[in-house]
Amino acid sequence: MAPIRLGLVGVGKIARDQHFPSIAKTDGIELVAAASRSASVDGIENFTTLTEMLAGVELDAVALCTPPQVRHALAHAALAAGKHVLLEKPPGATVSELADLVSLAAQKRLTLFATWHSRFAAGVEPARRWLADRTVRAVRVEWKEDVRHWHPGQAWIWEPGGLGVFDPGINALSIVTRILPLPFFLTEGSLEFPENQQAPIAADLAFTDANGARIEAVFDWRQTGPQTWDIHVDTEDGRLTLSKGGSEMVVDGKPVMSEADSEYAGIYRRFVELVGEGRSDVDVAPLQHVADAFLLGARRIVEAFHDEPNGAA
Ligand code: NAP
Repeated sequence: MAPIRLGLVGVGKIARDQHFPSIAKTDGIELVAAASRSASVDGIENFTTLTEMLAGVELDAVALCTPPQVRHALAHAALAAGKHVLLEKPPGATVSELADLVSLAAQKRLTLFATWHSRFAAGVEPARRWLADRTVRAVRVEWKEDVRHWHPGQAWIWEPGGLGVFDPGINALSIVTRILPLPFFLTEGSLEFPENQQAPIAADLAFTDANGARIEAVFDWRQTGPQTWDIHVDTEDGRLTLSKGGSEMVVDGKPVMSEADSEYAGIYRRFVELVGEGRSDVDVAPLQHVADAFLLGARRIVEAFHDEPNGAA
């Protein structure tokens, strides 16, 4: 079968760091064009907008790597033009806008893939299999990183719809919703908003499931020094820990070997499969939990955040 001809929109950090190298090493898909307001990419056709790209080059699919606030309009236009669509995480700025895209993709018989890159980390599927027939008693998620290191100058992330600390936190939620055997729901939360920003810098959440398990998640963007992306799950058969963002799995202190692979290579292999099978994959659960946190969480105003520690930006 001829490779899927892909156009990518939004040539920012994630497109350069992960999408371009992963597409290049995936069979069955080929990057033929990019749409960017500011950048141009060597060796492919370049356009300024999605509209120009759709009119100017033959494409089968579009990957959207922009901030979430502008994703729905782009996805709708690409599907309406008959293209399969791959969405970076989070899949949108609201939960409801996804229903519109799911319905349009089904009507047009196109693939819509809402990616959750952390679900492709090496330890996630082994953890899901290990937990599948066990009773979970308690879960502790700690996702703490330095926003200045990971998101320098990204104004959109602090704006409404940018999610703030839930931009990384939703990665943890995408793993927990995948590996736990039962659905769970928020019972209590508190969100800390810098006095000069529209999105939280930290969140403390408590969830439970049908068995009454206590599931806690702490997200914090003020961590300097070593970074923490850990999930601990206590069961009647011992403790499973996923660390380093899901890439390492340990059971009762003993490492469980996982095959190392890049998360984004897994994403593109899955996209090729989905297109081949004529299916979509859209799980809104992680975004729904974030929406619930904004619904139920108490709000605390904390000191202003500036990109430069001296307050210059
Ligand atoms: P970024 O560096 O700010 O890049 C986003 C790009 O989107 C911009 O460079 C810009 O590209 C384009 N864009 C279109 N409309 C825009 C608007 N209104 N405001 C700002 N940019 C706009 O962000 P990123 O880190 O790549 O993140 C993009 C998405 O990937 C986010 O949803 C994020 O959660 C996700 N993601 C990021 C990472 C990471 O480590 N950074 C990891 C996984 C997932 P043009 O100038 O080409 O138009």
